[in-house]
Amino acid sequence: MERYIQAFVDGYSGYARYLVHEIANPGWHNYFYALVGLSLAVWGLELLFPWRRDQPVLRQDFFLDLFYLFFNFFLFSLVGYNAVSNVGVLIVSDALAQLGIRNLVAINIQSWSVWAQLFTLFIVRDFVQWNVHRLLHRVPWMWTFHKVHHSVEQMGFAAHLRYHWMETVIYRVFEYIPLAMIGFGISDFFVVHLFTLAVGHFNHANINLPLGPLRYLFNSPQMHLWHHAEVMPDDHPTGINYGITLSIWDYLFGTAHEPYVDSHLKLGFPGLDTFPRTLTGQLGLSLQPTSQPHEPKTTSLETADLPATNTGVAHTRFGPLRARTASAG
Ligand SMILES: [Zn+2]
Ligand SMILES: [Zn+2]
Repeated sequence: MERYIQAFVDGYSGYARYLVHEIANPGWHNYFYALVGLSLAVWGLELLFPWRRDQPVLRQDFFLDLFYLFFNFFLFSLVGYNAVSNVGVLIVSDALAQLGIRNLVAINIQSWSVWAQLFTLFIVRDFVQWNVHRLLHRVPWMWTFHKVHHSVEQMGFAAHLRYHWMETVIYRVFEYIPLAMIGFGISDFFVVHLFTLAVGHFNHANINLPLGPLRYLFNSPQMHLWHHAEVMPDDHPTGINYGITLSIWDYLFGTAHEPYVDSHLKLGFPGLDTFPRTLTGQLGLSLQPTSQPHEPKTTSLETADLPATNTGVAHTRFGPLRARTASAG
């Protein structure tokens, strides 16, 4: 038990020191300034190439999302996730040791070039996250938390990181074993985090910058807006376009849906009008689902027959960067 307590304390103080160090030391290899710089860059593109020209620069919930941006990227880790995940990793490895399993590594890629290893991490994690995102839409208690992300009504880059902290926990848990099974020879995945953060911001941005044929490979604002649509197609009542960074999984597995380009799709989910609007209300969501993932929407004649909705995003689920790096390495 003392080891677990020590792991908790080390995780907490280690992350606090790390964050203070990041803020105090600007540079190219710095998560804090990368988040600030990328956010300003994508916001600049929104102003230069707006898709919905009638959308205010400071759109609805802009400041709420700005808070989520920093909360989910940094503060949540600072206030405890890093500490809790340290303990979790210790408990899992102790449990595996009891079963005689001391090493989860099934594929060793240490001898590969750095870029090949980064590429492998990116592909494996994006595919795992695509699957987790599907679960978030299908499992009622997970959907309860994921609704925070789908409560966005006016889309913009900062909505990327609007999500309940429980999502970070869910993504980390599902990523842990697949990534631990790969023996990486590097522990610095900064460039992958940066790339997925940039694409995630772009997917949510109010930007009209068509990708052409690349849209079959990468997620885009046009495709992701359909993911956030209030009403889902009949043949995919629980959701569509689950891609995080890559859209290719949706095309491969038949969940891609982009019938036409519509910059003013109605976003949200049935019952959004009674969903908490404040930060404290959203973060305090209980574990008791208030609705099923796809409860029928019957509020209008046009949509009465549709199996309703859900939807959601692409998010880079950055969360605890150090913990993630540690689990990956
Ligand atoms: Zn979603
Ligand atoms: Zn989204």
